Amino acid sequence: MSLTLYDAHNHLQDEWLAPHLEPIAEQLVGLGLRGAVVNGTCEDDWALVSSLARRFAWVVPSFGLHPWDVGNRSPGWCEKLNAALGADPAAGVGEIGLDRWIIDSARPDDPRLAGLRRASLTEQIEVFTAQLELAAADNRPVTIHCLDAWGALWDIVRTASLPTRGFLLHAYSGPAEMVRGFAERGAYFSFNSSFLDPRKVRHRDTFKTIPRDRVLVETDAPAMPLPQPWRTYKLPPSPSGTTVNHPGNIEAAYAGLATTLGLPVADLATHAEANFLRLFRH
Ligand SMILES: [Zn+2]
Repeated sequence: MSLTLYDAHNHLQDEWLAPHLEPIAEQLVGLGLRGAVVNGTCEDDWALVSSLARRFAWVVPSFGLHPWDVGNRSPGWCEKLNAALGADPAAGVGEIGLDRWIIDSARPDDPRLAGLRRASLTEQIEVFTAQLELAAADNRPVTIHCLDAWGALWDIVRTASLPTRGFLLHAYSGPAEMVRGFAERGAYFSFNSSFLDPRKVRHRDTFKTIPRDRVLVETDAPAMPLPQPWRTYKLPPSPSGTTVNHPGNIEAAYAGLATTLGLPVADLATHAEANFLRLFRH
């Protein structure tokens, strides 16, 4: 049975995927992928994202300054972001957000954070709200990253101007009790394949409470690798030895979420397609 799949969040422009881009693109189309939101994270990768969007019709480009990259932004970052967005009326804003984990919990020698100045929450909030305003002004879809900062995010989302089409809380790991409030403000919630880890019961249980018209599915590839038994698509590790997640694992994310929800995967695919098109494509 062939399904129509959509990856609501990945980083196809990442240098870890670059050596394998040709076979990856073929595999994705072969497995029925019809759309993927490819998220820029810093000033240096926005041009790569837009070139992927010109090359592959299924790429939805999104441009933003990720909270991990806020500390290294240039003085002209906002003009550059405006220019990238202005060149593509269909582009989204993301990946943007708030991350207290890098400030409070990340190890000083975490290789993923090497060379990054870790911006304070105050500084992150300033950059996040500026980007949110850009998105709201043009009614562009926004993709939000949030780690350990749910209260601070809610304080903003509760009162800010938001795009009327809604916004995505990617790899939603917040409390189940907050789903309703976010949904009332227009949130969609994407299920990440790493939530198939047997220990992530709370994450999976939260998705049982999310309205069906707000559920999306994602890989975050090459980040957030899924548990070994679910990994049907594999890539060699990065030069530093980190596991590289293949975007083809979107198939496993659908299968795993369908099992979690007790739904036939074809029904989940129908919901996810309608949701993806409503948020990212109209
Ligand atoms: Zn991401």
